[in-house]
Amino acid sequence: MSENLLLFGPPGVGKGTQAQRLSSVFQIQHIATGDMLRAAIQSYTPLGQRAKSFIDKGQLVPDDLVLDLLGERLQHPDTRRGFLLDGFPRTVPQAAELDRMLKSYGKTLDRVIVLDAPEEELVKRISGRRTCESCQASYHVVARPPRVAGFCDRCGGVLSQRSDDSEEIIRNRLREFSAKTKPVIDYFVTHDWPVRMIDAAGNMDQIFGRIYASILLS
Ligand code: ADP
Repeated sequence: MSENLLLFGPPGVGKGTQAQRLSSVFQIQHIATGDMLRAAIQSYTPLGQRAKSFIDKGQLVPDDLVLDLLGERLQHPDTRRGFLLDGFPRTVPQAAELDRMLKSYGKTLDRVIVLDAPEEELVKRISGRRTCESCQASYHVVARPPRVAGFCDRCGGVLSQRSDDSEEIIRNRLREFSAKTKPVIDYFVTHDWPVRMIDAAGNMDQIFGRIYASILLS
């Protein structure tokens, strides 16, 4: 049996943290466009160089770049057991393209999980976020500190703050979310995608419990 999931929500709502846990529980591929873009930037690919100027300003990367990057990813054999999309789609045209790709690959989504939390909570979560430079694992200075300050529990890599996690850039990312990404929820609903709205207030275990229940209960 495969499990194809989509995790949707504003920056800072905890998609990455929940996605790591869900993909390990269900043994499915975690596909995060943000991580793919940062990897492209680190490897100095032409696509990464173009994407960087948008990410640094807190703007969405143009659809054609993201779609080029995602390309055939969903067709890769490693997604046979399932996949978890995190941070994609972020615009209505990306949602329409995902719809087209899934149909052409003969795949469907089992759940679209929409996470939501108040804006001030999002800013707090993002400003305390620290990410492992090697394996991208995510921590929070208060809510989820690493065992040894500054280093990743999983691989021992150095933890740092993402360059787009400063307060001014966070506000831009939240504006982009309201203007361009939130309307994607209407697309999901009008196209009968299996949407579940989840309250993302509370601690990580509580949120995980709500998501897990929404996947298992039909
Ligand atoms: P967050 O969800 O906390 O904003 P991500 O790692 O998902 O973090 O995204 C970081 C940045 O990468 C976004 O602000 C945006 O510039 C870019 N990005 C990621 N995914 C997409 C996408 N699907 N479409 C456009 N831009 C994207």
